[in-house]
Amino acid sequence: MSFPPLRSLLDALPAYEPSDGVYAGPTRPRLLSANESPHDPLPGIVEAIAAAGATVNRYPDPGCGALTLAIAEALGTDEDQVVVGAGSVALLQTLVQSISDPGAEAVYAWPSFELYPVLSKLAGVVSVPVPLSGAAHDLRAMADRITPSTRLVIICNPNNPTGSVVGSEDLGRFLAAVPPSCLVAIDEAYHEYVRAPQTSSGLRFCEGHPNVVVLRTFSKAYGLAGLRVGYLIGDARVVRRLRKVGLAYSVSAVAQRAAVAALGLEEQLLQRVGTTVAERSRVQDALLDDGWQIPESQANFLWLPLGEEAAGFGRWCASQGIAVRTFPGEGVRVSIGSTEDDDAFLAVASEWRRRPPAAQDPDREARRVRTAVDV
Ligand SMILES: *Cc1c(COP(=O)(O)O)cnc(C)c1O
Repeated sequence: MSFPPLRSLLDALPAYEPSDGVYAGPTRPRLLSANESPHDPLPGIVEAIAAAGATVNRYPDPGCGALTLAIAEALGTDEDQVVVGAGSVALLQTLVQSISDPGAEAVYAWPSFELYPVLSKLAGVVSVPVPLSGAAHDLRAMADRITPSTRLVIICNPNNPTGSVVGSEDLGRFLAAVPPSCLVAIDEAYHEYVRAPQTSSGLRFCEGHPNVVVLRTFSKAYGLAGLRVGYLIGDARVVRRLRKVGLAYSVSAVAQRAAVAALGLEEQLLQRVGTTVAERSRVQDALLDDGWQIPESQANFLWLPLGEEAAGFGRWCASQGIAVRTFPGEGVRVSIGSTEDDDAFLAVASEWRRRPPAAQDPDREARRVRTAVDV
């Protein structure tokens, strides 16, 4: 029997596929595929969640008032410059929907966050992916691709999946070249992990540039991936309009209360981030010592640019009980986790290197090359 016609783009759109075995399967692998915090939530967070749980017969505050105020205070900005969303991906969706007049284009680097092309396509926005130069944004090439149709530029800083950063001076120069009619979204999902000098938050550019917005999340450094809460900072006039696009009530009371609690526990949470940063150096050095060629990362993950070997390596890790994120034909991203999980990964990665080349990609012929996204 036939079924009703849905938008034809849905036929070709890839579904989001979590890494093998993470949410189903007999035994849970070591979770190094989604850049989550490896730490259990602090007691204060669990208490806030329990308290909010007692109110779930009621709708949440649609304006996220207490959380908006707490974020504004933490960042030293005004409440009317903050929008809260159900994860920063919801705010990314809000952004592309907000600029999706016919013919609108979005410029972003590639490879970068997997959702940029998907959300653009769904909103009817034409993607203009600009290849990275090595592991880093090629800002000059990106500036060259901006035309009167460009309504949005996304800069992922640090870049997921390569971990590279855009320095403040370069960013300032780039922003000066972007027409004021074009929004620039700086996705800072991993900002708290940055230790490179000369790399500061895009927040400092919001002041003089009404077209700049910064996206942050509670999912990574603040350890609330399971609750879905993120925010955007921008010019009050832009923010007022963006608030109309997101669904009211989409950020649960549990998420709002936990995020307020997380801001109150910032010091402890940022200490945990420090632990992850030290662990990042340890894992990075171990891989380099083992002969891997990997770019320096300023995020809570490392990028293994394996090219055609990526899918085989991803399957090898899965077979050894380790979930990593595979970008077929490009590379594998591995999160920095607990010392124990990272040691397990290092052993598995080292074993891969020592296997004879023929054995490294057992089903070369059968390999299903799933291009990341048909942009
Ligand atoms: C993880 C991540 C996000 C955050 O997503 P949430 O919806 O807030 O969980 C946003 N951007 C990038 C680049 C990410 O890697």
